[in-house]
Amino acid sequence: MIVLRNLVKRYGAVTAVDGLNLEIRSGEVVALLGPNGAGKSTTIDLLLGLARPDEGSATLFGMPPATAIARGKVGALLQSGGLLPDLTVAEIVELTASLHGKARPVPEVLRRAGIADLAKRRIAGLSGGQQQRVRFAMALVADPELIVLDEPTTGLDPEARRAFWSAMHEETAQGRTVLFATHYLDEADAYADRIVFMRAGKVVADGTASQIKGLA
Ligand code: ADP
Ligand code: ADP
Repeated sequence: MIVLRNLVKRYGAVTAVDGLNLEIRSGEVVALLGPNGAGKSTTIDLLLGLARPDEGSATLFGMPPATAIARGKVGALLQSGGLLPDLTVAEIVELTASLHGKARPVPEVLRRAGIADLAKRRIAGLSGGQQQRVRFAMALVADPELIVLDEPTTGLDPEARRAFWSAMHEETAQGRTVLFATHYLDEADAYADRIVFMRAGKVVADGTASQIKGLA
C-alpha cells in the first residue's frame, strides 16, 4: 500500500531523510516514532508527494502519490497549512470533500472529530486544539483507505487526546490503514501495531512496542 524505496531528501547541508526504505501493508496501524528532527515530517511530505525526493521513490497503492490522493484514497492531517481562516468549519470540510469527488456525510465526520458544535464557527476564531480537530475532519471526509497523520495530538489536552484516539479506533475498526508520526512513545505503544523508529533520517528499528522499547 505504501512503498518507500531508498528515499533521500537533503535541505542544503542537512540530510533530512537518508536512504529510507519502508513498506506498509493494508490494514496496518503504524507509528513513525522519533525525536524532533529525526525526519518524520519530511518522510510524510515525500510519501504524500508534497516534497520531491533527491533520490529514491514513493508509491501509494502502486501509483504516484499525487494520483492516489486525487482519487481520494488518502486522507492527511499535516502540522500546518490547509486551513482557510475565513471559512466556517462546515465549509472547509465540504470544500475538502468536493476536491476529492467523494465524501462521507459532513455532519457525521464533524461528530467523529468532536466538532459538531463548531460547524458554523469561522476557522480564524478557533483554538489550536479546535483547529487540529478540523484538520482531522478534513483527513476523514473523503472516506480514505489510508490515513496519514503528522503529530495529530499537538495542541490537544489529555481529555481531547483520549477522544481523538477513540475516534481513530473506530476508523481503524473499519479496516483503514494508518500511519502516524509522533515523538511520544506512549502514543506509539498504545495505538500502533507496529513502530518504525527513526533517528537522523534513517529507520533504526521496526517492530512491536516491546522490541522498540530498549532503543527509544
Ligand atoms: P521531524 O518531523 O522528525 O521533527 P523533520 O522532517 O521536520 O523531522 O526534519 C528533519 C531535518 O530536516 C531537521 O534537521 C530539520 O531541521 C530539517 N528540515 C526539515 N524541513 C526543512 C526545510 N524545509 N528546510 C530546511 N531544513 C529542513
Ligand atoms: P461529550 O459528548 O461528553 O462532550 P465527547 O467524547 O464528544 O464527549 O468529547 C469529550 C471532549 O473531547 C470534548 O472536549 C470534545 O470536544 C473532545 N473531542 C471529542 N472528539 C474528539 C476528537 N476526535 N479529537 C479531539 N477531541 C475530541
